[in-house]
Amino acid sequence: MNDRKPIQINPATGEKIFDTRAEKASERIKGRGYEVVTDKSHLTLPEYNASIKWDDAAKAQMNKFKESRRGADNYVAMDGDFARYLEDHHSAPPVERESLDDECEIMVVGAGFAGLLLWYRLRDAGFTDVRFCDKAGDVGGTWYWNRYPGIACDVESYSYLPLLDEMGYFPKHKFASGFEIYEYCQSMAKRFGFYDRCLFHTEVTGAKWDDEAKRWTVETNRGDKMKSKFLLIANGVLTTPRLAKIEGMEKFQGDSFHTARWDYDVDLTGKRVGIIGTGATAVQVIPEIAKEVGELHIFQRTPSTIDVRDQRETTQEEIEQWKNEPGWAKRRRERFAKLFGRRALQANDAFLSGKAEQPKRRTRSEGPELSPEEQIERDLETSYRIMEQIRDRVDAIIEDPKVAESLKAYYPYGCKRPTFHDEYLPTLNMSHVHLVDVAPLGVQEINEKGVVHDGVQYEFDVLIYATGFDFMSRETFARVTGINGQTIDEKWAETGVRTFTGLHTNGFPNLLIVAGPQGQGASFNFLDAIEEHSEYVVNLLTKMRELDVSVVDIREEDEIEFSEHCAAADVASAALRDCLGNFTGYGRTEPGSLAYYGGKGALKRRARALDTLEPYLFS
Ligand SMILES: Cc1cc2nc3c(=O)[nH]c(=O)nc-3n(C[C@H](O)[C@H](O)[C@H](O)COP(=O)(O)OP(=O)(O)OC[C@H]3O[C@@H](n4cnc5c(N)ncnc54)[C@H](O)[C@@H]3O)c2cc1C
Repeated sequence: MNDRKPIQINPATGEKIFDTRAEKASERIKGRGYEVVTDKSHLTLPEYNASIKWDDAAKAQMNKFKESRRGADNYVAMDGDFARYLEDHHSAPPVERESLDDECEIMVVGAGFAGLLLWYRLRDAGFTDVRFCDKAGDVGGTWYWNRYPGIACDVESYSYLPLLDEMGYFPKHKFASGFEIYEYCQSMAKRFGFYDRCLFHTEVTGAKWDDEAKRWTVETNRGDKMKSKFLLIANGVLTTPRLAKIEGMEKFQGDSFHTARWDYDVDLTGKRVGIIGTGATAVQVIPEIAKEVGELHIFQRTPSTIDVRDQRETTQEEIEQWKNEPGWAKRRRERFAKLFGRRALQANDAFLSGKAEQPKRRTRSEGPELSPEEQIERDLETSYRIMEQIRDRVDAIIEDPKVAESLKAYYPYGCKRPTFHDEYLPTLNMSHVHLVDVAPLGVQEINEKGVVHDGVQYEFDVLIYATGFDFMSRETFARVTGINGQTIDEKWAETGVRTFTGLHTNGFPNLLIVAGPQGQGASFNFLDAIEEHSEYVVNLLTKMRELDVSVVDIREEDEIEFSEHCAAADVASAALRDCLGNFTGYGRTEPGSLAYYGGKGALKRRARALDTLEPYLFS
């Protein structure tokens, strides 16, 4: 690698070409997703009971479950001693390179799916002077950082992975392993020349708008000070790991890491392992590590819903059919976008392949007209019945009634990210696997030996934090300074979160935020927003090129109108998310400031904006 030239000049264009992709750190990193389960008893759901009533007793039980957890969200900043939990175990040390002090047209923060799709579309539209920075050592974002055993997507891969048509790729399973997705990102990067454009192991530490020069100045932890005309933030919404704050955690003498930085140098074979957290990640991890550890203790504050997954291999017949059906993946994703809640999770093949209609929800034309409040009550009733069915599944599989009781969740379906797995519940019956119910407030004490709960000492060789992510993290927003010398965070601290369709915020010219607050989150498939936003960015920049304008800001009145719409949409559907969790900011965030619940409202506003140009302040 000594003759490697991390920065070169393309003689034809004068643009810089980069080669900064890091080597893989260790061969121990295992490409393990999960297997198809064939035991029918693990794939069968108990009957759905349509006569169960969503009555006062059910409502009271749900409320008690929620209220007992108030204040349980206590997380520690990952700096100082805890900064090691953010270290990159996946790559060799950063490729040495000189610092840059130059200019490009478009700077993008993030090389996950959003960064990759931006590049694909920008390049197609003739924008080539584009540069990406990512603190990771390679592309993939979520799929670079998360390499835990058992990792897989939970949106069916045929609708989740972007550009399947263009790439001519067919995922191996309906729910692709995260390792396969990571390799897919690498293939996209190679195919589209992305690696030439990206500075890896480069964290953007600050970006400031210079209103005289009409340029952003972007600074990084590699000493770069680069100028750009446009700044695109594609830094992800589930990117910043969150570490539970537990008394004495720094005293633990064994190995410990966060699931988003899985450390394969720590061999779990035969070890005493504790895992804290039972969210969507833990549900995938636990069945896999249970196969190799000596003893496993699972500390659960709030149970997840564990639905049937029914993983399967992609069939040869499907592959043959898709090969002869140009645009198959796009059409499938469009159909998937019509599925909500549990139907999205179940991803019915007959409907998604276009062979059948989806069973209809009762609509106004088919029954007495329902007011919005009545519709919410109806949805809550359905949600309660689904939750009963999932609770019945726990009883059907779990042998110990006490453990079964602990595993029953009492919140509306979808309030925590719904999960599915066909090995998770059976794993909890294994004699070396123990569920420790730490409801409602979670683990409170850690010492040199392990976890202490209810006066019991649990001793471990390894402690794994599966304590999730900061949803819609603002990490980068505290680093971006606009026209008034305020950061985005400072502005929003005064005004509340204010954007125009999630992408613009007034006072930050030539800044576009992809898939951030008010931009996405409610759709089960995160790729929907990433696709829509990347298309919009390219359409806007193309329009500006045609109009021969170089700066765009957004009218304040338009972001106020949109933010009020976000708040109203959030309030109107809040009852369906009535629990304390990530999606509701643990009850602390203002309505409309995280995910977007306004359906096609944002898309329509963006289309109108591009048509009338009214919301834009061009110069
Ligand atoms: C374990 C897991 C499983 C998931 N499964 C699904 C699924 O099945 N279906 C689904 O729809 N969604 C899923 N998601 C959500 C997933 O994050 C999105 O689907 C999608 O991958 C996000 O892509 P992105 O490019 O927007 O963000 P990311 O993939 O998060 O990429 C953002 C990148 O920005 C970089 N970055 C951030 N700040 C800086 C900075 N200051 N300087 C430089 N670089 C920076 C990060 O290093 C990261 O690489 C999952 C998330 C997780 C964590």
